[in-house]
Amino acid sequence: MKNAATTCRVIAQSLIGLLLTVAVGTAFAAGGTVTDPAGVAPDRYVYYPGTEALAEDEIRVIACGTGMPAARRGQAATCYLVETGNGDKFIFDIGSGSMANLAALMIPYQYLDKIFLTHLHTDHMGDIDGLWAGGWTAGRPNALRVWGPSGMTPELGTKYSMDNFLKHANWDYTTRKFVITPIPGNIETTEFDYKAVNEVVYQENGVTIRSWPAVHAGDGPISYSLEFSGMKVVIGGDTFPNKWFLKYAKDADLAIHEAFMGPELFVGLYNMPPQLAWRACCAFHTSGQAFGKVMSEVKPRHAVAYHFLNEEATRYRLYDNIRETYDGPLSMATDMMVWNITKDKVTERMAVSTEEAWAVSGPTRQAPPERGQPPVFSKFILEGRWDEGAQPAQKRMLDEFAEKYGLQDQDWRKQMMKK
Ligand SMILES: [Zn+2]
Ligand SMILES: [Zn+2]
Repeated sequence: MKNAATTCRVIAQSLIGLLLTVAVGTAFAAGGTVTDPAGVAPDRYVYYPGTEALAEDEIRVIACGTGMPAARRGQAATCYLVETGNGDKFIFDIGSGSMANLAALMIPYQYLDKIFLTHLHTDHMGDIDGLWAGGWTAGRPNALRVWGPSGMTPELGTKYSMDNFLKHANWDYTTRKFVITPIPGNIETTEFDYKAVNEVVYQENGVTIRSWPAVHAGDGPISYSLEFSGMKVVIGGDTFPNKWFLKYAKDADLAIHEAFMGPELFVGLYNMPPQLAWRACCAFHTSGQAFGKVMSEVKPRHAVAYHFLNEEATRYRLYDNIRETYDGPLSMATDMMVWNITKDKVTERMAVSTEEAWAVSGPTRQAPPERGQPPVFSKFILEGRWDEGAQPAQKRMLDEFAEKYGLQDQDWRKQMMKK
């Protein structure tokens, strides 16, 4: 925690914030020296989400997914949350499984509305459904905004992907827009040229995001840089080492780039045939040695390796591979790793967050349900309702609730049967 003023603001923000602050006050992680029995040790390794305001010229990056397409409870697929000192938040990729980690940060969904996709492999965008629908049910008042690259044909681009995601989720959309409110169910997609080289794709509020091409499983993937307050965070996405990354990631403050396990580990642990292991590791992706070589050229203040299943059986081998060619500052990323970046230093910590997150309200309220939305019920299905049993059973509870909140027109059946 930065100071008492920060703590006070957090308490005011939410009850959860209060609980966390109390917990932090009494249970610091070990670090430094405790000089009296009632003392607490300074916090060195742990970030408790929701308890630290960023300084105006600070960037915080949280890894919400760092793993592989094959699902694992302990490690989701690619997702990074980048928070800037001006209050903005940016989600870079939202791979399968990553939403649970993002949600565990308990950030109001209205702020989690800007998503930048590096490419359209599902391990980089598969959890868009959880953010879209989950945030909608949890009070997000606004639409999602998605940025992503074009493809060799329109059908291989981000716009096609998002438009067809909404088609795929049409029943979900249609039923929710009736019951909740329609606007948060929209996705506004900005597709930009995947061949654009270091061009600006977003510029607002002191934050500039640029993209350049990546070399991955086919045309389309890109890498991003985010510049804020004279600092630069680079997110490589999936790529073989490429000339654009060498040039435009140069001198990044934090350079995140994939580093794949060597082919032997893919054969032994991932059940891959040797030829596929060779291609996966070292033709469409970046081996540890190649990652190290890239970082030795780019010379970031801090390098982050990700996109490997991070465990005892793998991390040391990959670390040794990287150290064959790079001896600079390095994080071997895993989920919920956190980096704070200022002009003075880059720190790595682990976030400690709840397994049982709830959505937290933001200042903007979601609009109420819109009148006049067509119901999506037939008479046949509605006549299957057992109102004569259920309604008397729940009447007292619902009457008390309606009275407390001044609700009217709670008889949905009558409303729907009017049509
Ligand atoms: Zn990929
Ligand atoms: Zn990937």
